[in-house]
Amino acid sequence: MSNENYPVLLSPITVGAHELRNRVIMGSLHTRLENEPDAIPRLVAFYSERARGGVGLVITGGTSPNFEGRVEEGAQVLDSEEKLLEHTPVVDAVHEAGAKIVLQVLHTGIYAKHPQIVGPCASASPINRRVPREMSSDEVERTINDFVKCALLARQAGYDGIELMGSEGYLITQFTAPRTNQRTDKWGGSFENRIRFPVEIVRRTRESLGPGFLIMYRISAIDLVEGGLTGEEVNQLARAVESAGADALNTGIGWHESVVPTIATSVPRAAFAFAAARLKKVVSIPVVASNRINMPATAEEILAKGEADLVSMARPFLADPEFVIKAATGRTDEINTCIGCNQACLDHIFTDRLATCLVNPKACHETEFSDELPEVKRRIAVVGSGPAGMACAATAAERGHQVVLFESNQDIGGQLNIARRIPGKEQEFSELIRYFRKRLDKSGVEVRLGVLADTEDLIRQKFDHVIVATGIKPRIPDIEGRGHPKVVGYIDVISGRAQVGEQVAIIGTGGIGHDVAELLTAPKRGVTTNPEFFDAWGVDPSISTRGGLREPVKETPARKVTMLQRSDTKPSARLGKSTGWIHRAKLNKRGVPVITGCTYHKVDDAGLHYSVDGEMRILPVDTVVMCAGQDPEQSLAQPLEKAGIGVTLIGGARFASELDAKRAIDEGTRLAYSL
Ligand code: NAP
Ligand code: SF4
Repeated sequence: MSNENYPVLLSPITVGAHELRNRVIMGSLHTRLENEPDAIPRLVAFYSERARGGVGLVITGGTSPNFEGRVEEGAQVLDSEEKLLEHTPVVDAVHEAGAKIVLQVLHTGIYAKHPQIVGPCASASPINRRVPREMSSDEVERTINDFVKCALLARQAGYDGIELMGSEGYLITQFTAPRTNQRTDKWGGSFENRIRFPVEIVRRTRESLGPGFLIMYRISAIDLVEGGLTGEEVNQLARAVESAGADALNTGIGWHESVVPTIATSVPRAAFAFAAARLKKVVSIPVVASNRINMPATAEEILAKGEADLVSMARPFLADPEFVIKAATGRTDEINTCIGCNQACLDHIFTDRLATCLVNPKACHETEFSDELPEVKRRIAVVGSGPAGMACAATAAERGHQVVLFESNQDIGGQLNIARRIPGKEQEFSELIRYFRKRLDKSGVEVRLGVLADTEDLIRQKFDHVIVATGIKPRIPDIEGRGHPKVVGYIDVISGRAQVGEQVAIIGTGGIGHDVAELLTAPKRGVTTNPEFFDAWGVDPSISTRGGLREPVKETPARKVTMLQRSDTKPSARLGKSTGWIHRAKLNKRGVPVITGCTYHKVDDAGLHYSVDGEMRILPVDTVVMCAGQDPEQSLAQPLEKAGIGVTLIGGARFASELDAKRAIDEGTRLAYSL
């Protein structure tokens, strides 16, 4: 593979006794594929596609060394030879495709989602209602032996090594940090006692498996929780793990219960590479950087600056299995970039669903999409170039159909163009449009911009099928005074067309309401640099404090904004599980209240009149922004159907409630496969 574009990233490296073909690691992803009835063929398809796509080393999803450590009911445990069959087909397929593969050994400790939960102490995590049982001293010994046994079984399955999961707040981290370890035996108390658990796991694993087996240790490079390790303690742990026999240090950032975002879209790219760079100075084994590295240039820069020796990316391989091959063959502009939304990966996992990817609906569904092309090639019109329309048009053209994509605006993208104006979303949503633009171009879709497709036109042009992806119309609730000059729609606000005053009411607290509140209160457009991000969230990159936390710098909001909703539900209930808290925390810091249980009465010169529990109130605002959801825009469909033309509605045009890009891209892609 050529390395001319990314000379360091794509150069080989020796880790332990293993030569990797490049420095790209596919990081561990919890997909829940193992819970599916046809798990093995699906896991083989998932991993082998990524290995064929060029990664140097694959790290599997977490597998527990014993029953208590499993993630949830049905999750993988490797504790006996009978279970090797769950692993060997995957290992063989990855090897056949030229990549190395290590098994991630993960004991979840107090994060486990099952009744047999254990931990260093009997205290529950703030993000898990289950109270753990404290492990006895004997049980700690037994658990270490289970880790060693799991590593031996991994070697038997053909794995090149293991990654010991010692970050993100799982059991190993729970032992190392005073936050979760108040034990009084030799496994708790002093720093030396607290790190004994991971050091013994590494030492005994090396002793049992000898020098050739790769042992990677994923260290929590900055805990980002109170009662976490100090920077000096992280350094000492790194050195101890190296001396005990680890071949490489992968890095993890924060615990799952941290209240600092570490992987969301709004985290600047490579923001946490500094934590890997710190460790590189104190150990001589290779160090791996991770977190919000989603394009090859970012990865190359980290390596070229000497901040790390390898780069681990996990979600970017859900988004694009061919990431490496595209980077290596001068096709970076074809990479489907992970936008850090977490909507189809983490949010699915947190709600017990199979992971997939917003920008790539084939992820974890590989076996459902056939490469066989349709025999009959059709002439297809797609009306609307939002995510649904773009995904459908590009996929249909790639499958051999002749496709014309109509867009009434002067550019493609639809609602993505609105999303990319929100602070923190600019870069990644622009990448998504760039990706589709390239795909449409490469697949030969005829894109007609500035054309408002009408029924007669479409009939005259004799399309075999018309796909209506015309999206949504923002809903303007029927409130007295809705025509008052104070009332504006969210699209006008986000696109900068509307004048917005100093005091603002936002009607609606869904994703859009939160986005608008962030936009209107942002001290400036986006916190895009590392120092600004660290200031806003109270990260101490010198890790001189426990957990690397400090007081966040107070932000002065640009406006006084109040959000309102009719229901009594939690205001962020409509937002994604893994990112909703970030939006709420940000707006809390900016003093944005949410008033629930409202009945709206009217808007007039005095402001917004509403009542709560029958009590009349007035918000004396200059502007009322309507973020009250959407209705489908499907006016084209009926006349076309009447004219006998095959019509399919997709995305927001089919169903506007809970409209999101994930469903839109999925529907567009799947429809194109059915044509
Ligand atoms: P939404 O999530 O459905 O929220 C609509 C809001 O409007 C609710 O707060 C609802 O609250 C209120 N509402 C609905 N009908 C109303 C009416 N007739 N009068 C007054 N208020 C009304 O819709 P959205 O905020 O437009 O978001 C659309 C989709 O975009 C979401 O499904 C989401 O997936 C996606 N999105 C997500 C994000 C994100 O997660 N950051 C950002 C942008 C978009 P009450 O009914 O309680 O009043
Ligand atoms: Fe990335 Fe979003 Fe896909 Fe997850 S769902 S892999 S965060 S683009």
